[in-house]
Amino acid sequence: MPEGDTIFRAARTLNRALAGRTVARFESVYPALTRIDHQAPIAGRVVEAVSSRGKHMLMAFSGDLILHTHMRMHGSWHIYRPGERWRAPSHDMRIVIGTDAYVAVAFNVPVAEFLTRAELARHTQIQALGPDLAAASFDRDEVRRRLADRRDEPIHDVLLNQQVLSGIGNVLKSEALFVARINPFTLVRDIDDPTLDRLIDVSLRLMKMNITDTVISPAGPGRRTTGSLDPTARLFVYGRSGKPCRSCGTPIESRKTGVDARLTCWCPKCQA
Ligand SMILES: [Zn+2]
Repeated sequence: MPEGDTIFRAARTLNRALAGRTVARFESVYPALTRIDHQAPIAGRVVEAVSSRGKHMLMAFSGDLILHTHMRMHGSWHIYRPGERWRAPSHDMRIVIGTDAYVAVAFNVPVAEFLTRAELARHTQIQALGPDLAAASFDRDEVRRRLADRRDEPIHDVLLNQQVLSGIGNVLKSEALFVARINPFTLVRDIDDPTLDRLIDVSLRLMKMNITDTVISPAGPGRRTTGSLDPTARLFVYGRSGKPCRSCGTPIESRKTGVDARLTCWCPKCQA
């Protein structure tokens, strides 16, 4: 599942490729999108900006129209030069937005809708999002308030709740809890304020590490939290069940929880 850092980077890449350019071509398999396109064509509009809000992507066009997409499990946006061969099957295409210089293609994106600015301002799902870890202005006090509202829930669930803090997915969740030395199954009410603050700091730092594009490892970009450039040593605990903890050598444990069986990984000694 793409996490907030992935969506942030995708939005930044799309913004660099498309912002300021005029749309020459629009296609979609979604009738709700093509209906709007027939009424008030997307071609001819200028892409004003592409941005992310947590795991939601917003592409703003001139004429008060915003394309809202969410990748869920398998969606992705690709960028191509006109005429370049797509790296995904064309039957997975959901949306195409072409300019003279670039073609952006959404593959398997399950959530896509056009919104006006007023509709975006009333959009319950987007407006309910907690402060965005990837945003330039991050409201720490608001996160503290939202954490306090979920005192009786385990921290691993609360960290994934996009209404508390937006942008964290399964990988960064396990990694942040390890770096902050918090057991994932601790209830929020049993974690003291300085420790919660440390967790927010760590989450911000790990998110920043994954949205700066200064360091690209030889094996290509990939989520990393350890700071290591060794592609086999990018993460502390996620996906390392049974392997020795990078700090203490104790085997990493993992457990699937919740209705969608999300994986939580932790070191039983460092996060006792
Ligand atoms: Zn350990």
